[in-house]
Order: sequence, then C-alpha cells, then structure tokens
Amino acid sequence: MNIKNKSNNCSVDEDNPGGCYSLSYSKGKITILDNISWQDLLKNSLTTAEQIAEKTGLDVKEIKEVIKEYPARINEYYFSLIKQKNDPIWLQCMPNKKELQDSICYVDPLNEENQSPVSGVITHRYPDRVLFLVCNQCAMYCRFCTRKRKVGDSFKRITWEQIMDGLQYIRDHSEIRDVILSGGDPLLLPTSTLEKILKELRSIKHIEIIRIGTRVPCTLPQRIDAELCNMLKKYHPIYINTHFNHPSEITSASSLACQMLVDTGIPVGNQTVLLKGVNDNPQVMKELMQGLLKIRVKPYYIYQADMTKGTDHFRTRISKGLEVIKNLRGFTSGLAVPHYVIDAPGGGGKIPILPNYVQSIKGNKVIIKNYKDNLYEYIEPA
Ligand SMILES: *Cc1c(COP(=O)(O)O)cnc(C)c1O
Ligand code: SF4
Repeated sequence: MNIKNKSNNCSVDEDNPGGCYSLSYSKGKITILDNISWQDLLKNSLTTAEQIAEKTGLDVKEIKEVIKEYPARINEYYFSLIKQKNDPIWLQCMPNKKELQDSICYVDPLNEENQSPVSGVITHRYPDRVLFLVCNQCAMYCRFCTRKRKVGDSFKRITWEQIMDGLQYIRDHSEIRDVILSGGDPLLLPTSTLEKILKELRSIKHIEIIRIGTRVPCTLPQRIDAELCNMLKKYHPIYINTHFNHPSEITSASSLACQMLVDTGIPVGNQTVLLKGVNDNPQVMKELMQGLLKIRVKPYYIYQADMTKGTDHFRTRISKGLEVIKNLRGFTSGLAVPHYVIDAPGGGGKIPILPNYVQSIKGNKVIIKNYKDNLYEYIEPA
C-alpha cells in the first residue's frame, strides 16, 4: 500500500482485504470498524478535496475541480480495500480529472428524464415495470456512474412529496407488476422510511414483485443489519440486485451482507459494469462471477459502459465484452454467466449481445458453434 494513509497501520491480509475493515481509520489505533454503526462509517467518509488529498497525496486543486462537478464520497470501509494507487478499487472511487474531458458522451445517456412521467422519480420504459428513484445518495460515488448528473447533488435530493407522487403513479397504472427501487441507493434511506415505501407498494394490488437495486452490500456492507433484514422480509417477494465489479470487493464483510440477505429469503443478483482498468479482463471476470456464486449471489447482467458524460475513460470496446462472455460460457458453471447487455443510448432499453454461436441457417440446416469453436449441425423440423 503506497498510499499516504497515516492511520493505516494494520497489517492487511492480502487474501482477505475485508479483514482490513478492522483497521483504525482516523485515530491510528486498531479499532473494529464492524462495531461502528453504518451511519458513522458514512459520516466519516472522505468527501472534501482536502480530506482526499490528505489520504492519497493527490493534488487538492485538481480534486476540487472534479468534485465541484461530480461529488465524491469514499467511506472508510471501501477505502480500506485499496491496495495501491490506480488499482481497480481506487479507479472506481477516486475523483480523476479525466472526468472533465470533453467527449461524445451524454449527460443523460438513457434518456431517463424524458421517459419520466413523474419528474425525477419514475422512469417508465417497459410495459409492465418501472424504475422508481427513491434516494439520490450512495454509500460511495462511483466515478463511472450513469446517473452522475444527479447522484449526491444536494440540490437534487428526492423529497417525500416526490416519492408520494411516484407511488400515486404506480397506483394509477395497473399494468405495472414490478417496481424497481433505485437511485442513488435506496438502502441509504433510514430503514423506517424504506419501510413506509414498501408498505405503500404492498398495499397496491397489481404489484407482484419489488426489486431493490443497491450497491450497499459491496460498498457499505455494514448497512445490512438484522433490523433491515427483519423489516424487508415482511414485504416479500423482494429481490435485490447488487453491484460488484471486482473480486477484491468480495470480502468477509460483503460476503456476510449478501448471505444475510439470502438467509432472509431474498434472491440476490448482481449487475456488473464492464470498466477499463477495473474488470476488462476475462480472467478477472471469471473470478468475480465464480466468487459471487460462492456467496450465493447470481450474476444477472454485465453492462457495456453507458455513453455517460464524464466516464469516457472507463469505456471499452464491445469486442472486450464478447471475449468475457466467450470465456465464461461452457468453461464454467452456466450459473456464472450473466447476460451481456447494452442499455441503448436514447432509452431503447437493454439489448443482449451474444457471441456468434449460430454459424449459418440454410433451409432447415442450422450450423452452430460450441464453446470450443467446434461446428455442429442441427436439422429443423420440416
Ligand atoms: C433496467 C431497467 C429495468 C429492468 O429491466 P430488467 O431487464 O427487467 O431487469 C426497468 N426499467 C428501466 C428504466 C430500466 O433501466
Ligand atoms: S452506487 Fe450506483 S447509483 Fe450510486 S454512484 Fe455507484 S453506480 Fe451510481
């Protein structure tokens, strides 16, 4: 660890960096971060240019310029996973002046604001389900975030009035059977506020399933506590999709968080974003997907990085994503293979991208290719 971190005097167990959440972060003494409330972990986050510069040796002025545009929050748990400058954890959380570069990317690449019948909270793109943004705060502000335009911005906080308007929209639209709570991160709401929303949703007859999109199990696993789990299980069927991007995010703490959720009866899936320098490597991705299965998390999506303004330096070519999928399918458990999708710019929704397994279709003869590139013939019925 060649990061300037005066208080980091614990010995990091390389195989289990999560063990390092027991390091003292602010006082130079070993304390158990586990015993600090998640609220305190959040409160002690690095958010100002001065704090970040002090911990990292980065240039204050440069950070200031970046976070004026896109806020930073690096909580002490996530920070403790950094092993060295520019490693996959660092790249995800540390402000970088590349975020201010001009590019061909868009402020709102998925056109969410225009497909929003209730401004700022509901995106209704598909016939039977809606995205419901209930909180614009996160446990850590990912530098590659698609909603960079609004997360963490105190002027864009979501009010209870807006949430009520969103609930009313869902009540008024009986075609909606699936609600995806997102943000920001819904699990940054106080448990009691989240419960109010879930209770309202459950009182709507046509709502079949409720999903929660949250990065908390990965970035602030201490937030997953017994109180939260006991509350959530009253509102089943609840599904959670979390967001791990690198094997080194799978720690004792994040494993425990995921397993607590699964033990609560919540199926937990994972969405990964393909990111240059973080996970644009078939071996790393395979390790990540297999690692998730070990903590009972099912890989759901790998996203091609959106064309989001301020994140151009994270984008990879499509061929990289295809290579990742090609290296998974057949070579490891089918359970470890997520859908590789591009969320179409402009709001077209998620479009699956697959390696070319169908070689040709001529008459009733279909030539298909297996994972080892061997060809097989399938004859269709007349
Ligand atoms: C991703 C997304 C969904 C959910 O898509 P699934 O493929 O059902 O997981 C719904 N609405 C919006 C706007 C989305 O971006
Ligand atoms: S947790 Fe999700 S919404 Fe929040 S900054 Fe990261 S990617 Fe964006």
